[in-house]
Amino acid sequence: MPKFVFVTGGVTSSLGKGITAASLGSILAARGLSVASLKMDPYLNVDPGTMSPYQHGEVFVTEDGAEADLDLGHYERFIDRNVTRASNLTTGQIYSAVIAKERRGDYLGATVQVIPHITNEIKSRIHRVAREAQADVVVVEVGGTVGDIESLPYIEAIRQFRNDVGRQNVLYLHLTLLPRTVGGELKTKPTQHSVKELRSIGIQPDVVIARADEALNEELREKIALFCDVKIDNVISEPDAWSIYGVPLMLEESGLGRIVTEELGLATPEPDLRAWRELEERIRSAKIPLEIGMVGKYIELHDAYLSVAESVRHAAWAAGCDARLRWIDSEKLERDGDVEPLMGLDGIVVPGGFGYRGIEGKVKAARFGRERAVPTLGLCMGMQCMVIELARTALGTDDANSTEFDAFTPHPVIDLLPEQRDVGEKGGTMRLGSYPCVPTEGTLAHRAYGQPIVLERHRHRFEFNNAYRELLSSRGMTFSGLSPDGRLVEIVEIPDHPFYLGTQYHPEFRSRPNRPHPLFTSFIHAVLEHARANGRAVVTPAVMQEAR
Ligand code: GLN
Repeated sequence: MPKFVFVTGGVTSSLGKGITAASLGSILAARGLSVASLKMDPYLNVDPGTMSPYQHGEVFVTEDGAEADLDLGHYERFIDRNVTRASNLTTGQIYSAVIAKERRGDYLGATVQVIPHITNEIKSRIHRVAREAQADVVVVEVGGTVGDIESLPYIEAIRQFRNDVGRQNVLYLHLTLLPRTVGGELKTKPTQHSVKELRSIGIQPDVVIARADEALNEELREKIALFCDVKIDNVISEPDAWSIYGVPLMLEESGLGRIVTEELGLATPEPDLRAWRELEERIRSAKIPLEIGMVGKYIELHDAYLSVAESVRHAAWAAGCDARLRWIDSEKLERDGDVEPLMGLDGIVVPGGFGYRGIEGKVKAARFGRERAVPTLGLCMGMQCMVIELARTALGTDDANSTEFDAFTPHPVIDLLPEQRDVGEKGGTMRLGSYPCVPTEGTLAHRAYGQPIVLERHRHRFEFNNAYRELLSSRGMTFSGLSPDGRLVEIVEIPDHPFYLGTQYHPEFRSRPNRPHPLFTSFIHAVLEHARANGRAVVTPAVMQEAR
């Protein structure tokens, strides 16, 4: 029988529930357990695919093509295990499934209700994750904050779950925040209230993890233990960490791994945390500063580019570098005449996106990178902008475009495939998930991968238009990665440049903190070389002093 840990959140959102759940998963996996993860999102959308990145940050794409919550990215990076579409459920999915069953007549005679029909559907999805992943432990994160109207059916479902599978197989973990008063005192009252709220629905937490800007003293932990009826040992302090990648070791040191396994009656060997220690060492000693521009339209919310930013950091650390990201607003770049925001960069990343807004700024950044020989990496929309830019230069007209932005362009260098037209619906009409790509021998892409075929995750509608292959090759662009049948362009590059490469797919979803993605690694090497050639990337005493 697998074990289940339910992670709920109280007091406020954005406490780092995803990082905490992922970190718990990682310290359990370090004990040799097979750990699966599940994020339950209370919103009504079927998936976050149609939501603005301003609302929920990036849309994470799984191998099997689900558009999912960004917390799944944390799970993959921390637990080092690929998840599937079963690892993210939403209220939209649950209701759709229940209504479909009702129409089919599965509940004939019954009045279909939240309890038991919705809660049963939720519970069956939890079991499904455990089954499909053959998990010893499933870490289930309940999105939102306890007390929200939307999350009630989930809380009720996890309450019933303990009775269904037996008390010894379930653990409730509640994450809260201790705010500080104007006088500087940490307060436990909001935590008491949120636990009270949880108990009013019938759940008594076994473990309380208290977030605060510093570690909790004994007195505060005792108070939480007393008022929330939790063992003092099980009140865990989770202060802000030096890096998100410091959280697993911090939680392990506070005893969380031992407590969870003991409470669930799991006999495991001592955890093997070498990989996390090595990573800490690697990050702390990575000092060479690199300044990398991220050109996008959602830059106010850095979470919109979460996996891209993490991938850049992972590759930089492996090269002993500290990547400092300069967020560049592509709309501003488009509006303002000058390229000032791009000056002095060691490298440029143009990430993915949808819609016309900010495109001209991205095209400008691509042109800047190409003409001034600054290492440039284009991802999905970023790659498409590289193509648009070169086509405009080659044809001597700004009319070249993607039909996503200009349906009537005379030069549709990025376009829908004939079979994609007239589909109608916006949700679920994209090329999604893992597809093979064959890097062309003798190219930068091939050297970086060192493999004859790679699987990469996609999330896009539009494709490179093959009618323009010849024109662009004549201007120095190489199609260095193709689908196995040779029909789809997956990678473009310009060999006569320190690093100018774009991918139709999203390599950022496969990078791991201790195993950066080869294309990001190759990009960072070029960035470092470029920075050095320009007298930058120097570890000054000031850089050394910056504590991490
Ligand atoms: N909007 C582009 C397309 O659909 C690029 C998508 C992306 O960057 N993820 O093809």
